[in-house]
Amino acid sequence: MRFGIRTLDDLALRGRTVICRVDMNQPVDREKGTLKSTNRIRACAPTLRELSEKGARVVILAHQGSDIEYKNYYTTKPHADVLRSLGLDVKWIDDVCGPAAREAIKALKDGELLLLDNVRFVAEEQTLFETKLKLTHEQQAHTQVVEKLAPLADAYVCDAFAAAHRDQPSLCGFEQVLPSAMGRLFEKEFCTVSELMESPARPCVFVLGGAKISDAFLMLQTVLGKGVADCVLTGGLVGNIFLAALGKDIGQGSVDFIYKSNYGEYIDRARELYEQYGEKIMLPSDLAWVENGERCEAVLGGIPAGIASVDIGSATAAAYRDVIMSAKTVFVNGPMGVFEQGPSELGTKMVWQALADTGAHTVLGGGDSITAAEKYQVTDKMGYICTGGGALIRFLTGEELPVVKALRHGSAIPE
Ligand code: ADP
Ligand code: MG
Repeated sequence: MRFGIRTLDDLALRGRTVICRVDMNQPVDREKGTLKSTNRIRACAPTLRELSEKGARVVILAHQGSDIEYKNYYTTKPHADVLRSLGLDVKWIDDVCGPAAREAIKALKDGELLLLDNVRFVAEEQTLFETKLKLTHEQQAHTQVVEKLAPLADAYVCDAFAAAHRDQPSLCGFEQVLPSAMGRLFEKEFCTVSELMESPARPCVFVLGGAKISDAFLMLQTVLGKGVADCVLTGGLVGNIFLAALGKDIGQGSVDFIYKSNYGEYIDRARELYEQYGEKIMLPSDLAWVENGERCEAVLGGIPAGIASVDIGSATAAAYRDVIMSAKTVFVNGPMGVFEQGPSELGTKMVWQALADTGAHTVLGGGDSITAAEKYQVTDKMGYICTGGGALIRFLTGEELPVVKALRHGSAIPE
């Protein structure tokens, strides 16, 4: 047991049918029917391997795509191919909890693995269902996916820390009826961030950029309020919102973008946060924008009226580098600019290089932040890469994650 949750060491596995919920959600290349990245699949493979080697009959549940962007829903078939390429002998079936899936589960032998199709093909698993109906965990136990699959299983393992902020039946419902545990990846990610929050080596620096504004501000309130953060380096849209809050002229294009994205209310929040914790919050001193395909930079005060800033400037990046170099813990979520494009990548590139060079323990989370680390080939220089950006940032807001709560419940159910 760690932090009140069973680990794989606390579950009997041989001959047991175990439902294992993983997060293998990856960008899909629809034309080729393949996945553009296999990060998350590689990350959860050790748990699946351990379950199989210890003789469990492993039923794998996963989602692919989100209903908010419905067109990116996709089958989990290519994920099975990736798992096979990693040496796991996985069967796959194009059914989630219907008769075909249930027969295939009943036919499993010790050590065999079966991947079911995209669990979000079931309506109750969709984010819209989650946000509109807000089922309790007890109610989630009475959804199709849990009622059809749980009776065939002896235990439930959740290895999907990247989805731990979601409140959906395949993530929180099984723990109401089955003895539960966290998988190895969940254990590593959850325990790492829990320990980081409890007692970080200091100075503890937060690098906060990107575009997930509501979570970013909740998180700032918590890490500053609890005294976890000694310094926050702001960039991306987060930085622009702070600058706008302090009345800095950041270019009308940037201001328009903030309002167009419905983040206007955060300007007031940013002002309040800055009034209270200003000495711990570092803001960009210069910004970059793109004109005719070329990168342009100016210090605050000299920003042309019409521009939309897409990166921090190089003086800011250099100042941030110094802070990162003398830190002991650095937590990172969200790039400093639109790093996907050449002219606006410099800020992210320089800061990410500093993350690679510092002696501090670095924790990096978020899909785009990880993509940036890959782009600048610094992935293996990071202390710890967390597969879940949304879950990580929600965790850092101080709120108990729905899946953590459910796992604590399922950890108390006797085997
Ligand atoms: P992560 O996936 O690492 O959690 P986010 O999803 O919050 O990060 O933010 C990443 C996105 O933010 C990227 O697509 C990037 O292009 C965008 N972005 C960064 N800086 C800016 C900016 N100044 N204006 C608009 N978008 C930005
Ligand atoms: Mg992102």
